[in-house]
Amino acid sequence: MRTLFIYPEFPKTFWSYEKILELVNRKVLLPPLGLVTVAALLPQNWPMKLVDRNVREVSEAEWDWAELVVISGMIVQKADMAVQIARAKQRGLPVAVGGPFASSTPDAPEIELADFKVLDEGEITLPMFIEAIERGESGGRFSSNGEKPDVTSTPVPRFDLLELDAYDSMSVQFSRGCPFQCEFCDIIVLYGRKPRTKTPEQLVAELQALYDLGWRRSIFLVDDNFIGNKRNAKLLLPAIKQWQIERGYPFSFATEASVDLASDDEMMQMMGEARFDAVFLGIETPDEASLSVAGKHQNTRSSLEESVDRITSYGIRVMAGFIIGFDGEKTGAGDRIVRFVSRTGIPAAMMGMLQALPNTGLWHRLEKEGRLIQEKADAKGVNQTNLLNFVPTRPIRDIANEYVDAFCRLYEPNAYIDRVTHYYGKVGAPRWRAFYKPENSDKPALPEKNDIRALATVIWRQGFKRNTRFRFWRSLARIARRNPANLEQFVVTLAHNEHFQEYRAVVTREIEQQLACLPPEPPPATADRARELQPV
Ligand code: SF4
Repeated sequence: MRTLFIYPEFPKTFWSYEKILELVNRKVLLPPLGLVTVAALLPQNWPMKLVDRNVREVSEAEWDWAELVVISGMIVQKADMAVQIARAKQRGLPVAVGGPFASSTPDAPEIELADFKVLDEGEITLPMFIEAIERGESGGRFSSNGEKPDVTSTPVPRFDLLELDAYDSMSVQFSRGCPFQCEFCDIIVLYGRKPRTKTPEQLVAELQALYDLGWRRSIFLVDDNFIGNKRNAKLLLPAIKQWQIERGYPFSFATEASVDLASDDEMMQMMGEARFDAVFLGIETPDEASLSVAGKHQNTRSSLEESVDRITSYGIRVMAGFIIGFDGEKTGAGDRIVRFVSRTGIPAAMMGMLQALPNTGLWHRLEKEGRLIQEKADAKGVNQTNLLNFVPTRPIRDIANEYVDAFCRLYEPNAYIDRVTHYYGKVGAPRWRAFYKPENSDKPALPEKNDIRALATVIWRQGFKRNTRFRFWRSLARIARRNPANLEQFVVTLAHNEHFQEYRAVVTREIEQQLACLPPEPPPATADRARELQPV
């Protein structure tokens, strides 16, 4: 069965970094890990091709070659998912859809033309799909009915199907699920609260597969909470460290983790030694009351500022997510986030307005309270350019205006340079350097041609063209003097401002357009209802 995998296009997002990727001659930040995992779970005698629509179009020859089309994606990709399904159907091809969007909303109109809906985790539902194909069936819906698979026998993803040069980073996955219970989170709905991990041997085999394909750049561990199962993460990290030492540390890693990482020195030390350079934390807000409302109690147990500083001191850079629009939130939430980010210095602070995602605890509560203003099928997913999709407990315009103001202040060019400089003054020396043996490296650690060209462009733009040039040179001199071990990363982080400058204009324009379309006042009944719900 000649199978064509299609990964739908993403809209422009906080993480799309087009300007930066252009500089280094790459197209996309991360590859479609879900699809290459599905490819590994299908019969290996099926010929396979994969097209990531964020990289390029599907060619006519590829459409003609295909006997089956497999499409997977997230909620933010649903528009292009619908387009690709329609194109495949026009050509008379059977289509199978899966992934987070199909699993959470299998009856969504965007996927109604698909013949097969392969929902939930593929380890359970793909064998059902394969049997149906072998029986000659022309459609079906396969669900795991709440069962979660053991991932210790999940095969190595088919990374060989990817056009590796198009990506800035590769991804692998060690665990699925998270033990916490944040009300807005869909991860625990999709993957459960009992983190399931692969074995260290499995993950190392995935790293080796990427290494054998010639990959030598960064790797993102896409786990939603890498330390969800701390015991198993601590079994994995020494195996990665040993593998890295034997090859001269060819990969750097980034991942996502809960804030309680900061209270585990052993974990941070192990991550540093394995060359984890960065971690994304869901901080959400410095307002304790909002964290409690969201069920994010783990973020209230110790000082968030100290947590950021502790992780940073291990040479692990912190990126963080922030949300505005929680129930009971007081005026000035946006300003409090800006002040928190400025004090801690977190360079990449991703901010968005709260969205109720289908089937989450938040969705069910708002539905019961009659506050959802969007059908399940219309949910757009977490994005920086969407208004809240429910009636909040304070005026939506106030929240949106605070949000736009905060976003613009966070990425004001001078403020960004000052923040990044403040942050890099605190970043600890890389822990892995103590174990780095250049003689083990098959290639000396020379920068790639693309990287040298990108660096020259950044220095030209930031150091000569922009009117922030004096600040740039002053900051560069300061970090060169105080923290030379992190100078290169400092320049890379400053370069991200090229993207944020453009993106803050997108955020402002799109939110203002949506505000202009709102009715002057919320319908009285709904407004009254929201007032009733205001926590005392
Ligand atoms: S810590 Fe993160 S992954 Fe875990 S439940 Fe909360 S939001 Fe979801």
